Amino acid sequence: MKKEGGLEKSDEHRHDVSMQTHTKEPMNTSLQFCPTLTCSARGQTGQGNIRVHDRGRERYRCRLCGHTFAARRGTMLEGLGKPTELIVTVVTLLAYGCPLQAIVHAYGLDERTVANWRDRAGSHCQRVHHAIIEQGSLDLVHVQADEIRVKGRSLIAWMGLSMMVSTRLWLGGVVSRTRDTALADGMMTQVRACSQAVCALLVCTDGWAAYPNSIRRAFREKVKETAGRGRARLHVWSELCIATVIKRAEKKRVVEVTRQMSYGCVEQAELLMKQSRGGTVLNTAYIERLNGTMRERLAALTRKCRHAAHRLGALHTGMYLIGCTYNFCFAHDELSCGQDGWHACTPAMASGLTDHVWSVAELMGYRLAPPPWVEPKRRGRPRTRPIFEDTKPKRPRGRPRKMTVSSFTC
Ligand SMILES: [Zn+2]
Repeated sequence: MKKEGGLEKSDEHRHDVSMQTHTKEPMNTSLQFCPTLTCSARGQTGQGNIRVHDRGRERYRCRLCGHTFAARRGTMLEGLGKPTELIVTVVTLLAYGCPLQAIVHAYGLDERTVANWRDRAGSHCQRVHHAIIEQGSLDLVHVQADEIRVKGRSLIAWMGLSMMVSTRLWLGGVVSRTRDTALADGMMTQVRACSQAVCALLVCTDGWAAYPNSIRRAFREKVKETAGRGRARLHVWSELCIATVIKRAEKKRVVEVTRQMSYGCVEQAELLMKQSRGGTVLNTAYIERLNGTMRERLAALTRKCRHAAHRLGALHTGMYLIGCTYNFCFAHDELSCGQDGWHACTPAMASGLTDHVWSVAELMGYRLAPPPWVEPKRRGRPRTRPIFEDTKPKRPRGRPRKMTVSSFTC
């Protein structure tokens, strides 16, 4: 019996979409890793411990711990019943700034389903961001940071964003109800996580007073000054430069720009700007350009719109979805135009984090490895008796059975 429901009218279209999902990728055990947290081989590929468990349901099995897991485990698609193509299409539309209501009408989906996919995609992108960008230990050289005021439905929020100028890489963002020190600290902690160890760095921001101190707090290293016991002091990076660009506007037009150094010297800042090809004078133009992209692509950020954000969480996940697709999936015009023609290049490629333009399906299907298993620390009194060697076969206890006596040669 055919099930009657509100989605009947779009069945024809959905049939076309689901037709494409039958081309399953061949199951490859060498690329898989065990996701079980209690397994000693978790997150490791090429160990030979993974076997195909069920080709029909696309499940693998770990020989070490015996657990089975789905091929979609650890991706954005895990546990979703809808066709992959449809989910990827909806996520792509969301990443380009298509309002949720438009997708609901176009595909006949439930509004809660689309919102759930957006949140799932955003959370997945956040994990990918932590796993790839924040583990990249990049030579940032020149960073710009700024914040956007977001007017939601009975909600005012602030979205702080930061970027690496030379490769246009989005380094992360923080959404907060208040524009306070915690917002600036959160942003700078993210920038610090992406950066390599102590290096020369220029950070350009607007005139918000919280920035200089937050930047200094984030870029400090422990230095042991006295011999023997005692606490190490925290020292700000010696080659850190903090520049502030203050714009004064009259009738929504910029009439005056004040550029000043809050920390470090101008010569060093100019050198770093030249190195990162980030202009000849102190500026925040690059992050403002990224703010524009964010406003364009995150539907809830559009000014005076009818689909403003209700929840802070939706802004947070939306920001990660836009930021991550911007970094990995969409070619950047400025980076792609070279001397020998146009070659698609994304900010992640320019930063050396990947070698190709990712499709949205690839990003959503990216499997995140759990942290490697570490042997638990032994607690308590150290062992006095020697550790029993597992490799040595145990001598059978008690009287041997009659069956084994006949085959027992000794
Ligand atoms: Zn396992």
